[in-house]
Amino acid sequence: MFSSAIKILDKAATNFAEKAAIEDNQNSYTYSEYRNYAKKIASYILNKNKNGFIGVFLPKSCNTLISFMGILYSGSTYVPFDINMPSARLSKIISHLKPSAIITDSAGSERLKKDTDLSDAEIIIFDTALGCPVDENLIENSLMSIIDTDPIYIMYTSGSTGMPKGVVIPHKGVIDYAHWVVNKFDLNENTIFGNQAPFHFDNSILDIYGAMLCGGKVIIIPEVLFNFPVKLPEYIEQKNINLIFWVPTVLINVANSGILSEIKFKSLKKVLFCGEVMPNKQLNIWRKTQSDIFYANLYGPTEITDVCTYYIVNEDFADNEPLPIGIACENTKTLILKEDNTKAEIGEIGELCILGTGLALGYFNEPEITSKAFMQNPLNKKYRELIYRTGDLVFENNKNLIIYLGRKDSQIKHKGNRIELGEIEVAAQSLEEIEKACVLYDDINAEIVLFAEICGDVKDREILNKMKRLLQNYMIPGKIIRLEKIPLNANGKLDRVYLKSNYIGK
Ligand code: AMP
Repeated sequence: MFSSAIKILDKAATNFAEKAAIEDNQNSYTYSEYRNYAKKIASYILNKNKNGFIGVFLPKSCNTLISFMGILYSGSTYVPFDINMPSARLSKIISHLKPSAIITDSAGSERLKKDTDLSDAEIIIFDTALGCPVDENLIENSLMSIIDTDPIYIMYTSGSTGMPKGVVIPHKGVIDYAHWVVNKFDLNENTIFGNQAPFHFDNSILDIYGAMLCGGKVIIIPEVLFNFPVKLPEYIEQKNINLIFWVPTVLINVANSGILSEIKFKSLKKVLFCGEVMPNKQLNIWRKTQSDIFYANLYGPTEITDVCTYYIVNEDFADNEPLPIGIACENTKTLILKEDNTKAEIGEIGELCILGTGLALGYFNEPEITSKAFMQNPLNKKYRELIYRTGDLVFENNKNLIIYLGRKDSQIKHKGNRIELGEIEVAAQSLEEIEKACVLYDDINAEIVLFAEICGDVKDREILNKMKRLLQNYMIPGKIIRLEKIPLNANGKLDRVYLKSNYIGK
């Protein structure tokens, strides 16, 4: 029984002390080094009395993982910050979270001091903290107070009001999930994970804790390689990677590059994916050219510790058929609710709701939006039973597999990134040149479209540049359509239906 997920690292460092645990393009550490460095970070935090909610603002590397584990050893909760975030968004998140400390490097420290309001947050320079001697007593005392319902991490995701939402995940979600992953996919100390997922995206939880639990190794693939999909197979083979858990966008890019028909993977045995729809068109290219590989479609929002349903691909699909998202993971239940909150029968469309250990504790410091998304199961009047309403529309087919259809709101996935169109709208609306804005997604052209009433003769490029100061790069519209007046519907709201049918996908 683990009360904290850090016990997974403890166990791995005992059982697999000298085995390689994590590797980036500069360093590689064994499990005993991983634990030792993490404990140094923890001791530094505890000596400074800065345990609490601790941000990590570092380029993706082994140091980021050591920081996460150090924070856990100190009995604290880690919060990964994307270093590519524009300062305005970073500043919003820091003001919302009010962390007790942020682990960073000297470049990060300068940015944080210049661009954000740190209040009481202590800046911890990673290299300095690594110089701290391990204080086992301090660590043991702080871990004694941790139980598995305590928060392990907070991940910020796009919010429709313009304010990113911090999803708070408990230790037990990660502990349970890691065990499920290792058992279901038969992972062991010979498993070498080729990590693609950024550490501020919850797909990385499978790599980080799955590897730790089975004594496997995580290789952090250099981010730049994902711009060159043809080069990825060569890297995988060179590093003997045998499992990848990637976002479909990357697998699609590899399939579209044509490289798969020219090579045959030797090391790669398992390809798992999650985060957005995986089209059968590209999956079929993988399956035809790399027929010995095991494929599985995983599904889940950040609010449920990465994954809550899965489908092991074991039948053939036509290119235009949807790939099922499958069935619930162990210790998880799915419920499909119709609009009147009654249960959908087989074939009926409804909203996918999830029950189980993996459920987040809610959105950090946001009780109202928490109670809308995490609510009492309307089918249970007898005792407290929380469900998470995913906002995803699905149905169960006659093989009892769940089929994903789309969203019931304006959350989208663009190049694998979760975005609330409302967040882009709020940013656009905040510019002085824009009187009114409406943002829609063009699925056919995979493009974010900004409709705007613009005053003055400002150029599109200037507007987009201003938006880049407020939003992540992947949120920037691909197209601006200028309208004298954005049409309104009978209720006086922006007429999204009219705009969609007249302008989108043309
Ligand atoms: P995120 O919180 O970034 O993991 O995004 C969660 C959302 O991504 C879900 O609510 C779905 O809309 C979508 N999603 C995740 N996995 C899949 C999948 N395997 N197939 C289709 N959509 C998915």
